[in-house]
Amino acid sequence: MARIAAGIGASHVPSVGQAFDRGKQETPEWKPLFDAYRPVQSWLADDIKPDVAIIVYNDHACDFSFDKYPTFAVGAADSYAIADEGFGIRPLPPVRGNAELSWHLCRHLIYEEEFDITVCQKMAVEHGLLVPMNLCFDHRPDWNIEVVPIQVNVLQHPLPTAARCFKLGQALRRAIEAYPKDLNVVVIGTGGMSHQLHGERFGYMNARWDEWFLDTIETDPAALCGMTHHELMKSAGAEAVELIMWLTMRGALTPAVRCQHRHYYAPMTTGMGLITLQDQIQ
Ligand code: FE
Repeated sequence: MARIAAGIGASHVPSVGQAFDRGKQETPEWKPLFDAYRPVQSWLADDIKPDVAIIVYNDHACDFSFDKYPTFAVGAADSYAIADEGFGIRPLPPVRGNAELSWHLCRHLIYEEEFDITVCQKMAVEHGLLVPMNLCFDHRPDWNIEVVPIQVNVLQHPLPTAARCFKLGQALRRAIEAYPKDLNVVVIGTGGMSHQLHGERFGYMNARWDEWFLDTIETDPAALCGMTHHELMKSAGAEAVELIMWLTMRGALTPAVRCQHRHYYAPMTTGMGLITLQDQIQ
């Protein structure tokens, strides 16, 4: 039987990918962020040993368009191309998929859980998915992990609610546990933390609220599920609404969890958070 081995909440910011590609891991502005992930990489490699990462992320109108923006879209391919976000295709190998697991998850979500997701047999992935990949896994010579991408609409209203994203995580857990093959799965929720990239509140951040979110996603996720999009945006900036994707990761874990790694860094225009959680009964 497949099992959830851990959950990870991690911010994605396009400039992290650029810093990674340009070898800026040791520069003063980037070192605190990249250093925070080194123990996470060792913990993944030595303790968690994941076979597959389910990455709950949003596409930033790169592979998906506002003409047709699915609420939840699940990749069902053995490979995902690297998308061009407007500054050339990054020097990364295509992301390795696991189509068999993807199809199982899609069937389970639709037939058993009443989540009528969009099934994507072809997807190109961008920084929403690739930044956490770069921070957690290795790609030389090829990615050391298979991925099931789950793309969430956090751009074009009406968005799914925080509670709905959490319920997707609960459904995903049941789907994973119904998969007969022996696989270790990590679920990664990405996006945010506090930031606003447009309008009068451009540059708005709220580090205190971000720290509260990191506390609360561990101890009281129901409090976060009760938040409206407006409340999230008011507290932490419009684009912080991306944090609803962390709740899918949290929904896939047991109610009580233990935190192994946690970090917060906010030197630029986005709060960059990291938290790793595991079921308490392990
Ligand atoms: Fe984003």
